[in-house]
Amino acid sequence: MDNNFDVIIIGSGPGGYVCAIRCAQLGFKTACVEMRKTLGGVCLNEGCIPSKSLLNSSEIFHKAQEEFNDLGIEVSNIKLNLSKMMNNKKKSVLTLTKGVEFLFKKNKIIHLKGKGSILDRNTVIVTDDSGKKTSYKTKNIVIGTGSTPASLPEIKIDEKIIVSSTGALIFEEIPKKLIVIGGGYIGLELSSVWKRLGSKVTVIEFLDHIIPGMDKDISAEFLKILNKQGIDFKLDSKVTRVSIVKDKAIVDFTNNKSKKRERVECDKVLVAVGRKSNISADISKLGIKIDDQGKIKVNEKFETSIKNIYAIGDVIDKGPMLAHKAEDEGIAVAEIIAGQAGHVNYDVMPAVIYTSPEVAMVGKTEEQLKKEKIRYKVGKFPFIANSRAKVNSETEGFVKIIADEKTDKVLGVSMISAVAGTMIAELALAMEFGASAEDIARTCHAHPTHSEAVKEAAMAVDKRPIHF
Ligand SMILES: Cc1cc2nc3c(=O)[nH]c(=O)nc-3n(C[C@H](O)[C@H](O)[C@H](O)COP(=O)(O)OP(=O)(O)OC[C@H]3O[C@@H](n4cnc5c(N)ncnc54)[C@H](O)[C@@H]3O)c2cc1C
Repeated sequence: MDNNFDVIIIGSGPGGYVCAIRCAQLGFKTACVEMRKTLGGVCLNEGCIPSKSLLNSSEIFHKAQEEFNDLGIEVSNIKLNLSKMMNNKKKSVLTLTKGVEFLFKKNKIIHLKGKGSILDRNTVIVTDDSGKKTSYKTKNIVIGTGSTPASLPEIKIDEKIIVSSTGALIFEEIPKKLIVIGGGYIGLELSSVWKRLGSKVTVIEFLDHIIPGMDKDISAEFLKILNKQGIDFKLDSKVTRVSIVKDKAIVDFTNNKSKKRERVECDKVLVAVGRKSNISADISKLGIKIDDQGKIKVNEKFETSIKNIYAIGDVIDKGPMLAHKAEDEGIAVAEIIAGQAGHVNYDVMPAVIYTSPEVAMVGKTEEQLKKEKIRYKVGKFPFIANSRAKVNSETEGFVKIIADEKTDKVLGVSMISAVAGTMIAELALAMEFGASAEDIARTCHAHPTHSEAVKEAAMAVDKRPIHF
């Protein structure tokens, strides 16, 4: 193999591997450096995929216990085999990471195994497990090194008792009592998993609401639903200390308003307070500009402050830390390197929480529009009035469509529904095409589907829903 490439991508997460495939499709001689044993980054190995596997299995387990009987499905002696459930998760991860390996071979992408560092704008050094360094020349470099779990200054994650999401995906026993620090999507998805499998779960959140950044109506409704499911919340509370005594953790926290101090003992603490970008020493040494959040600054072409060095995904200062955002950036940057008009629309980027029911949003929230002084109208439709949701006993939640007061253009949609994660794609597409609420209201939706609630919410923008 000669060591000269058109593009070398560092990191094989959803940003990096998708970028590599698009580069190869565009005719570039492409290599992707990955220091982990398997391809696919956080998403496939310890993020989206393993968490969704456990969410799916734990939901079926919960339904088998709580709901099957009412449907006339009589199963007795339902038992949990956690190690089998974990093995099933491992199998899914392995299948998908092998899938990326196959796609690399198919597209003739060279997988460089080891830790990549940038020597200069045309040289990448790869250090393999044995410490051997190999130098590669390239016309372009794409940094897609992703992120790792963040913690709080006073908390040291040991991945045994005090864990990050990585540790919470591989518990060998069900924790009797689990404290989750952080009420964002990762904390709440994993709270759901372990609650369904038998843990007593308490979430401590610094803000006075959960899922920061999402619509406040949705946040309030979601909190009620999770409370009903038996997850406890301590909102508006700051964790001040987590200490380990024997095999237990002691968590101290203080209410921000009342200043009341509390202390709880538990078996495991999950720290889910966000993620920090992976900026290695070489990046700082080269003088690539980093913002005050520790993310690489890029322009609209994903160029860093150094020519020919691009960056995408969780490591950059644009958009949410989500896999599909990284993928879209990976495609865009490959096309930009090829002289095409690669582009990512950050205004239409769906976000989903894969609990039961699911939560999804795209575009702006009411709070954002108020801040931006944009006048809007709202249409809401509850799933209690949707026939398919009723048939399936999935009546929790609603669809909320926000449209411009004058033009009726859809500005944002938020929803809670059993299938919100799937339904949000329709709204993302509508928004990409600049649809009005009226366009959605006049689009024929199949009956009986949860999606009819989308049409009804669009009709409700004009105060004419049929079934509510
Ligand atoms: C528990 C959990 C659940 C999640 N669920 C979802 C979800 O449902 N949907 C969603 O959209 N997002 C989800 N995410 C977020 C998602 O995983 C990330 O946004 C996404 O993986 C970011 O992709 P990336 O390509 O930027 O980097 P990453 O996936 O972080 O991959 C970066 C890769 O680069 C490698 N690397 C780093 N430095 C070097 C180096 N110097 N040399 C070689 N290799 C290097 C790393 O080993 C890693 O494999 C979840 C995250 C977590 C933790």
